[in-house]
Amino acid sequence: MPKYRAPGRVNLIGDHTDYNEGFVLPLALDLACVVDARPTEDGRIRLRSEDVPGEVDLAADGRDLASSEGWGRYAAGVAKVLSQRGREPVGLEGTVSSSVPVGAGLSSSAALEVALALALCDAAGFEPETLELARACQEAEQVATGVPCGIMDQLASLAGRRDHALLLDCRSLETTPIRLPPGLAVVVVHSGVARALAGSAYAERRAACEAAAARLGLRSLRHATPAQVADEPRARHVVSENARVLAAADALARGELDALGPLLSASHASLRDDFEVSTPELDALVRALEEAGALGARLTGAGFGGCAVALARAAEAEQVAAAACGTYATSTGREPQSWICAAADGAGKIDS
Ligand code: ADP
Ligand code: MG
Repeated sequence: MPKYRAPGRVNLIGDHTDYNEGFVLPLALDLACVVDARPTEDGRIRLRSEDVPGEVDLAADGRDLASSEGWGRYAAGVAKVLSQRGREPVGLEGTVSSSVPVGAGLSSSAALEVALALALCDAAGFEPETLELARACQEAEQVATGVPCGIMDQLASLAGRRDHALLLDCRSLETTPIRLPPGLAVVVVHSGVARALAGSAYAERRAACEAAAARLGLRSLRHATPAQVADEPRARHVVSENARVLAAADALARGELDALGPLLSASHASLRDDFEVSTPELDALVRALEEAGALGARLTGAGFGGCAVALARAAEAEQVAAAACGTYATSTGREPQSWICAAADGAGKIDS
């Protein structure tokens, strides 16, 4: 049976900027969702997941979205948006399995959407372009969850490049791969606290950004200057974060590791104080990573719980992760989990 692999992602810097037509700097992870499935003759999508309970059995045109539950909503959402774009309703039968931790902020949901979309497109001989597929999967996430998410997760999963981070311009959707210097390690630590209230708070933040742009007569906060948003904390975060993403991309491209840390730490402070999406646990985890010798650290994946990301010198990464996890577990009583991550290629078919 053919298999379709789509990676999760970790965002090095640039949170809550994608839906403001701004910049983000994610990398596709060597953790991925794999859909192992073959076309069916009866127009049904039948899937089970090795990770999440609940068998999925729905019409291949996505008409069952309203009555779908759990992860079936993602499958129905993907089927629906592809059908609207002209995919013939060919069914699919098989299994989903993922090494992306679910609900951690590493985008297991986008990995699922993209892997399913590739499987469904292949089954029907439907070949959308990469950017169109990213937009379709973003829309699938929106209709499945009701959360008005940006395009970062789906685009990163599709456009990933081994050993590279991706500078994404979320207005033009231009992707610039930037090689990760060999001496640099990406450390991801789960705080051991699931993301809570993320959907409603996310929508509230997005609405606040759009209102701020409208007050300024701008199409999006991408176009605002620091002076225009000096007294508006939410908008101030977006504008300052865009500048940090570009500075970080530049430092990464030049291999200037010492310049990266302060940018990550400033990003965390802005997300905590101006955008108010951090939690006491994420603050403690970021502090522990910095004290353990990381170059810099920040919450990642929109906040409200989930993971922090840190950059460290490769030779010190294991030690930084272990020490930070120890300190964090002692101070909070939570159970952290850490990964030293490699940057992987974007989604594709892996077997036939
Ligand atoms: P994140 O994307 O940060 O991991 P989300 O809450 O956005 O967290 O997405 C998690 C949801 O995605 C799960 O609750 C489940 O519905 C779906 N999902 C992700 N991976 C799988 C999988 N392997 N099998 C079934 N459903 C999955
Ligand atoms: Mg998600």
